[in-house]
Amino acid sequence: MKVPFYGHVRQYHNLKAELDKAITDVLESGAYVMGPTLTRFESELAAYHGAKHAIGVNSGTDGLWLVLMALGIGAGDEVITTSNTFFATAEAIWIAGATAVLVDSDPKTNNIDTTKIEAAITPKTKAIIPVHLYGQCAEMDKVAAIAKKHNLRVIEDNAQSIDAAGANFKIGELSDAVSLSFIIQKNLGTFGDGGAVVTNNPDIAAEVKRLRNHGSTKRSVHSYGFNSRLDDIHAGILSVKLKHITKWSDRRREIAAMYTKALKGTALTLPTELPGYRHVYHLYVVEIAGGKRDAFLSWLEGEGIDAKCHYPIAIHQQAGYPWGKGARIVGPLTNNERNAANCISLPMFPELTQEEIDYTIEKVLEGVKKFA
Ligand SMILES: *Cc1c(COP(=O)(O)O)cnc(C)c1O
Repeated sequence: MKVPFYGHVRQYHNLKAELDKAITDVLESGAYVMGPTLTRFESELAAYHGAKHAIGVNSGTDGLWLVLMALGIGAGDEVITTSNTFFATAEAIWIAGATAVLVDSDPKTNNIDTTKIEAAITPKTKAIIPVHLYGQCAEMDKVAAIAKKHNLRVIEDNAQSIDAAGANFKIGELSDAVSLSFIIQKNLGTFGDGGAVVTNNPDIAAEVKRLRNHGSTKRSVHSYGFNSRLDDIHAGILSVKLKHITKWSDRRREIAAMYTKALKGTALTLPTELPGYRHVYHLYVVEIAGGKRDAFLSWLEGEGIDAKCHYPIAIHQQAGYPWGKGARIVGPLTNNERNAANCISLPMFPELTQEEIDYTIEKVLEGVKKFA
């Protein structure tokens, strides 16, 4: 049996009639860029978040640096995040011209360790970017309290966890802005690239809107800006898919519960759900200690299971990061390095079948005996 890592085509087939119609509607309308389908999706996304503004952009990476620029954060400024995230979080800080300051993550959640933030603050610090990694919100209440005390901005990197929530906060409630990614492999994914900024702050919204469209607020009038728009065809696709996101997250949680029930008590470290949090399992990440991760992974692959690592090289371990442009490590980054060495992401998407889930569990249990 083969168990794939992604269910993109299955999801397309399940929604084929709706998606094909959404695409055809845009094609027939002739309005492909900054048209009414984009505007409609932006309203739906804002309403979904209970937020005032949503602005479609070209990617989750662009969403992050557009917000940094909208806030005037750039050269000479520092932005705190963790190195246990996708490369783009730090990359966006660098694109904005600022310095990424990397701290450790929490050993249970693998999200930013909020007890490590204050030691990283200097007079140059302007913002914190907590990442909602793997489907679980960072501890935003704690991040927001630190930000308030030190007068810092907070931007949520929510590329991975749309539809997640904290115990007593919603995404977007305790920050200046949220950046989302809609690249196909994310929980809400289009057939290509896409992203959005969600915010309650009218100044950030207006500035991101201006910056994404060549610095223009009025036809033919421009100032400094970029081209980072979300195409209407993607907005149409996302508008269809947004209606299914809660059901998909519930199914991800159901699959995660099956994995957890079957794998608890083994030598694997399993994901931790913080009390009261809604974890939406963008990824179901287990850890295997003892240096056998790569052997375990290739064995699983041989058994037909497409498992992966997120992320085998933490950002501070990347030789290719533009270190010369400045980045600061406030270490030790013990947990980030442990997670990078030990992590395995099991197949996780709403369209997985019961047979595939059972087979994955059977093989993981067999593998643990061999490799743990
Ligand atoms: C995917 C991802 C991004 C980047 O999103 P793109 O749309 O690919 O630019 C940023 N941060 C995290 C945590 C991600 O997972």
